[in-house]
Amino acid sequence: MPASTCDLATTNNSLASLRSRLAEIHDLRRALAVLEWDMEVHMPPKGAEGRGRLIATLSTLRHRLATDPEYVRLVEALADDDSLAGDDALIVREAAYDLRRERKLPESFVREWSEATTAGFNVWREARARNDFAAFRPALERIVDLSRRAADHYGYDESPYDALLEGYERGTTVRALRAMFGPLARELRPILDGAVAAQASWDAAWTEGTWSVDAQRAVERRVLEAMGYEFEAGRVDVAPHPFCTMFALHDVRITTRYDESDVFSSLFSVMHEAGHALYDAGFDPAVDGTPLADAPSLGIHECNSRLWENVVGRSRAFAEWLLPALREAHGPRLARVSPDDLWRAANRVRPSLIRVEADEVTYNLHVAARFELECDLIEGRLAVRDLPEAWNAKYKSYLGIDVPSDADGVMQDVHWSSGLFGYFPTYTLGNIYAAQVYAAFLRDVPDWDDRVRRGDLRALLDWLRPRIHRVGRRMTSPEIVRAVTGSEPDRAHFVGYLRAKHGVA
Ligand code: ZN
Repeated sequence: MPASTCDLATTNNSLASLRSRLAEIHDLRRALAVLEWDMEVHMPPKGAEGRGRLIATLSTLRHRLATDPEYVRLVEALADDDSLAGDDALIVREAAYDLRRERKLPESFVREWSEATTAGFNVWREARARNDFAAFRPALERIVDLSRRAADHYGYDESPYDALLEGYERGTTVRALRAMFGPLARELRPILDGAVAAQASWDAAWTEGTWSVDAQRAVERRVLEAMGYEFEAGRVDVAPHPFCTMFALHDVRITTRYDESDVFSSLFSVMHEAGHALYDAGFDPAVDGTPLADAPSLGIHECNSRLWENVVGRSRAFAEWLLPALREAHGPRLARVSPDDLWRAANRVRPSLIRVEADEVTYNLHVAARFELECDLIEGRLAVRDLPEAWNAKYKSYLGIDVPSDADGVMQDVHWSSGLFGYFPTYTLGNIYAAQVYAAFLRDVPDWDDRVRRGDLRALLDWLRPRIHRVGRRMTSPEIVRAVTGSEPDRAHFVGYLRAKHGVA
């Protein structure tokens, strides 16, 4: 016997109210994304102060709406309603999860956080350009202090860093990550040494010189179109660091930055960000405006971006398709370059300073170093004033390199200036998920390499859409990995993938 007609009508009304409340909260989040995108792409420097106020006001309004007593009652009543099923039940489950987290932060804290992180970003941008850590330090001290207070508000069992991680990779902990990063770093070491030794004889002289930005753009456009990125539903702009942002299902934008001395830097950034964009554009329209049209974690988001950037973009088959496109755009200088030359240059492994330009192997050492520094900062073992020295020591021990300046050292990433403590580990989780998901994809599409050689990349998007993109937050990241691959998330796939690619036993 179903619930009475009266109960059913009440439930349906409540669900409709919930959907409309969620859509409002969602719309404010997307309006904030427009303001933040504009801040990074177009805003003149003197606009920073006014923009900080705008973002803080809108963030506060969003928080107020998301914790409003009437909304709280609505979610709580629906969470107790056993008659809900399917997406209705899942929307309520996820709304209740978000609400629990949101309510832990006082409104005054939300405003303070927003002001500090917006100011922090603008201070960082200037300080980095002048290689002046001392100028950035007060802003960063404030953000670290606020991050620790955020952790106290959220609550935690073992480490305050766990409370921050929850915002990026739900369910993971410092303990779990330490158990993963430690062995992974040890497994990467022989791959790094083996790859560096094997590559000593490679000739990459052809990559030197200047690469026109216009020609780089032309190649990127072809690659993006082959991936399935729609220019009628997105655009590519230049910003100090590459990112992807979503204003609507049919307006997902990416940014890049050009380096005229590097033919690969922007290309792989663009493939990476387009991987994120294809995921966002693939959320289920039927649940748009609800928490289900979102990623369950950043690790699974990074799984998508890294699949395209590294697993596909740095594959041997892709080099065969890419080379004629590069020749067409950049001219005769590539006449004597072979697909092998191109593949090798795109896969050169070497310890380097800058994370976003690191190869697939050492990238994870950059992440491990940041993870440890973040734990030390948030758990109170490291003060911001000692951070540059600690950074340089980590780079020496993990990558064996000396850091020449804070601009290319401790200030190279945007994350800390924006308060994103807990974000970095998701990059390596993404690498791990991507290798495992790719193995499952190849079982279903065994002729993938032949398709890539022809520039037919559509099969990957078509395969990801129903299995990951449409799922959104109906499942957690580990559940998605299990459903898609048939096994638990396991770094062995990633390590095996790197060993095979770099010919290390
Ligand atoms: Zn990414």
